[in-house]
Amino acid sequence: MTTQQTIPFLDLATTHIELEQELTGVFKAALHTASFIGGPMVEQFEQAFAEFCGTKHCIGVGSGTDALRFALAAAGVKFGDIVITVPHTFIATTEAISQVGAEPRFVDIVESTYNIDPEKVREYLETSCTFDEGLGLVVENKSGKPVTAIVPVHLYGQMADMDALGEIAEQYKLIVIEDACQAHGAQYFSKKEGRWRTAGSMGKAAAFSFYPGKNLGACGEAGAVTTNDCSVAQQTRILRDHGQSKKYYHDIEGYNGRLDSIQAGILTVKVQHLAEWNRRREAAAHQYDKLLLPVDGVVRPYIPEWARSVYHLYVVRVPEREGLQKHLAEAGIGTGIHYPVPLHLQKAYEGHSWKRGDFPVTEQVASEILSLPMYPQLSVQQQRRVVEEAARYLRNEVRAEKSVGISSGQLKHSS
Ligand SMILES: *Cc1c(COP(=O)(O)O)cnc(C)c1O
Repeated sequence: MTTQQTIPFLDLATTHIELEQELTGVFKAALHTASFIGGPMVEQFEQAFAEFCGTKHCIGVGSGTDALRFALAAAGVKFGDIVITVPHTFIATTEAISQVGAEPRFVDIVESTYNIDPEKVREYLETSCTFDEGLGLVVENKSGKPVTAIVPVHLYGQMADMDALGEIAEQYKLIVIEDACQAHGAQYFSKKEGRWRTAGSMGKAAAFSFYPGKNLGACGEAGAVTTNDCSVAQQTRILRDHGQSKKYYHDIEGYNGRLDSIQAGILTVKVQHLAEWNRRREAAAHQYDKLLLPVDGVVRPYIPEWARSVYHLYVVRVPEREGLQKHLAEAGIGTGIHYPVPLHLQKAYEGHSWKRGDFPVTEQVASEILSLPMYPQLSVQQQRRVVEEAARYLRNEVRAEKSVGISSGQLKHSS
């Protein structure tokens, strides 16, 4: 065996080492001014990120989960409402829905893009709900509860089909809140408007996470809400700060969900590199596409012509996912599975009526997906090795080699 360089799934250190001087400068500035919560560093980041997304407002908050919670509540989702989303996402999406007092309802995803299927949304609204003309809202037949919002998740860095969702939302008077936690800078070509739009600018409001591993990551926890709606922005500002519109004057009960100044300062430094990092991710994705093209048995990411992905993750599908992942791990190559258990089958939702078979596309996809190493610093050389190792496994070579290595006495244990 030759000892080969390991390739991590994610390389968070290099970026920060490259920016060490600037980043420690932020920390020193905060120390010297003792400005830790709020203040100009937060405002400066909010301005920079609103500009990046092409929105009027950005409100820095404590995490992506906070951002989802506040965006839903600020946009008017209330206790007892029903909110439509997908089971193929991180649980924060549905936690936020439940934590504002609403109930999630799942619809399945599109197999090629892994994002919410607008046709399934329409089907749910048409077959399980009734539009109440008097109230001007949709009511779910079995629960009698109003359906008020859709949360499309722009998964893996690629936006959901927002024109189609927008049309449904308009027809059924639904609020659209984008879960853009994996999609900083992703783009969607709106045929309706005849122009490209950036993630976070198309819904009533959107939630971003700056968890360290995201395309734009803090050195700790952070998130943001973006919106073009002044009152949603105002309400989000109030919600993140204990419901106060003025110090110690509380209009409502809110949360402690502020973005701290040091994280804001760090994000201001890093956001200037985001477009370039996204370009490098895209280049790496195209490289993977090219390298994987001749490899049988691999489904590569599909990007419709109306989408530009920022490749938060590069996810492939293979029939023997566990075996491939194990083989790559043995070869020193890190991978991930996003996500192995669909939300409707999680223990947390055991009390609900969801069961296996309810969302077949999600379930199928969840059993086959594998996220390959992806970050701006990933080299072509590293990618070649990832693909070579994957191809070697998929061509059965590894299994053949292993059985050759087994002595006849051990053979009975192999199956
Ligand atoms: C990361 C993520 C979140 C949650 O963000 P946190 O900052 O970790 O709270 C929500 N939704 C999706 C799709 C995510 O990937």
